[in-house]
Amino acid sequence: MAQASTLEDLYVDELRDLYSAENQLVKALPKMAKAANSEDLKAGFEEHLTQTEGHVERLEKIFDALDKSPKGKKCKAMEGLVEEGSEVIKEEMAPEVKDAALIAAGQRVEHYEMAGYGTVRTYAELLDYSDAAELLQSTLDEEGETNKKLTKLAKKLNPKAVEE
Ligand code: FE
Ligand code: FE
Repeated sequence: MAQASTLEDLYVDELRDLYSAENQLVKALPKMAKAANSEDLKAGFEEHLTQTEGHVERLEKIFDALDKSPKGKKCKAMEGLVEEGSEVIKEEMAPEVKDAALIAAGQRVEHYEMAGYGTVRTYAELLDYSDAAELLQSTLDEEGETNKKLTKLAKKLNPKAVEE
């Protein structure tokens, strides 16, 4: 991997990192949905899978406009977050407690994505890529909404885990 010597290089590097992260999530979210016990949580993960496929497409659009490949980077942070998620899936837990743990894993992922998209959105603005900045803002908004939905689900579901 060539050294990032300009903000433009760093921008492309960060976008590739996110592309890897989103593709890892496309594989992980169906497993999270399958492991969820609450129907609402299951539906939430499934809905976010559809959005995540859209996030991959937005990144591809941005790379197309740059005439560059989105591939070439592995997001190690997302690898770790997904690994922690699969530990939750494997672990033996009361259903209500498992849902609480799945929500916690999901919120870590959303916060990680929010940090990444906030950064590249701002880089896109600085570099005068206004179309890309808009696309990245749309994804950032969806990650934020998903995080809020998970907070709502936690408020609704986690009290049921207290008695366990
Ligand atoms: Fe995403
Ligand atoms: Fe997300």
